Amino acid sequence: MDNKKNTQSVAWKEVCANLKRNLPDHAMNAWFDPVVPVSFDNNKFVLGVPSQFFLEWIDSHYNEHLKTTLRLVFGNEVVHSFVIHKTEQSNAIEQIRQHVVPQNNKSKLNNLNPKYVFDKFIVGDNNEFAKTASESVAKNPGETNFNPLIIYGGVGLGKTHLMHSIGNKAISINPSLKIVNITSEQFTLDFVNSLRKNKTIEFAQNYRSADILLIDDIQFFRGKEQTQEQFFHTFNVLYQSGKQIVLTADKFPGEMKGLQSRLLSRFQSGLSVDVQPPNFEIRVAILLEISEQNGLTLEYPTIEFIAKHIKNNVRDLEGTIIRILAKSSLLNIEIDNQLVTEVIKERVGGNFGNEVSIENIVKKVSQLSSISEKEIVGKSRKMEIAEARQLSMYLCRDIIGASLMNIGVYFGGRDHTTVMHAVKTIDNKKINNNRMKEIITSVKQELGFSFF
Ligand code: ADP
Ligand code: MG
Repeated sequence: MDNKKNTQSVAWKEVCANLKRNLPDHAMNAWFDPVVPVSFDNNKFVLGVPSQFFLEWIDSHYNEHLKTTLRLVFGNEVVHSFVIHKTEQSNAIEQIRQHVVPQNNKSKLNNLNPKYVFDKFIVGDNNEFAKTASESVAKNPGETNFNPLIIYGGVGLGKTHLMHSIGNKAISINPSLKIVNITSEQFTLDFVNSLRKNKTIEFAQNYRSADILLIDDIQFFRGKEQTQEQFFHTFNVLYQSGKQIVLTADKFPGEMKGLQSRLLSRFQSGLSVDVQPPNFEIRVAILLEISEQNGLTLEYPTIEFIAKHIKNNVRDLEGTIIRILAKSSLLNIEIDNQLVTEVIKERVGGNFGNEVSIENIVKKVSQLSSISEKEIVGKSRKMEIAEARQLSMYLCRDIIGASLMNIGVYFGGRDHTTVMHAVKTIDNKKINNNRMKEIITSVKQELGFSFF
């Protein structure tokens, strides 16, 4: 890929990552996945879409979202426009998109994400059982005791990935299977439309003829009584004829509110498996995988550094990598400690460095300099003690951004000008003084705030 192409594709990825935060998955899949970045020059982002219909739709429904997101990512300057851009791939995608509402006859067209396969799913204690159960369902749909299979857990932990993997695997084994893959919102919308158009019979037929029914995020059925009723009947028909049902939810079904109890009791006849947040080692493995997929080579210490700070879910890990890539390639700068730290700070916000206190810093400096903590915060003017004190003050500012006043108070009630002076002194010293540089890096490393 030449440089320009690379930049525009990275830029577009970044925009999509941000759009994703505010748009539901189905909107992203149907309207943004098919968009191809055509050019990105002079602050103009030209986006290719597969058809005139598509162009009008995305322009009338998502213009504001796009504008806001571009502003967020690039500042005020960048504007966007659409062109119709036909490639084999976009033709295929357009075809699939038109079939987002599932077909009446058996059809290979489904909106399964081809990237969501078992091979790309990284396993750890946190999700092993969920993956094993999913695989077994994919191999023998409807024939295991895992019916329905319900995958539940927090956001960004791989539920949708696993559900699509089931569909992808099952269809690779038996291409004639009819897989209906839909989010609960799409199901609702489809049902409402069928009511409007007097097509409830077709609606029912379509869902009830599935060999595998995959419904994502069933928590959004909450409070939609008539949709739940429809779903209940669909469920029963499929279940009784030995068809496989796979559902995902944000909570253990037994704890879900707003769903009819007859539904919840149906769910109990199958298996519920959870996905948990990944531990440190799994986060490292996932980061390595994501970097590789994005053609990014990061030093191992950088990966560890990210894994230490981004803990919640896999989507955040992905978002971090993409943001790093976007920043370095758009601003044409090296990926270094500063850039990575900046991106992490943006993502974790005020939580960055939350676990570290002034006390931790003083403790670390004390260990590394063999000067006691008491002396560091004390009054002695002996040169090496004064220097350890200044260094500690500097690090309190640099690592946790403590206020001059708070630092002063901690260090024996000194006033803020003394702290400011200390910070400046170390700032100057570290330029030429290698020993100083090393000790700063060591403290940061040991507290998890630097990786080189
Ligand atoms: P959920 O549906 O639970 O909110 P997703 O399935 O959408 O989460 O996952 C978010 C992103 O993280 C997806 O891009 C997915 O491919 C990726 N992901 C999640 N878990 C894993 C995993 N264990 N291995 C590899 N990628 C993962
Ligand atoms: Mg999901």
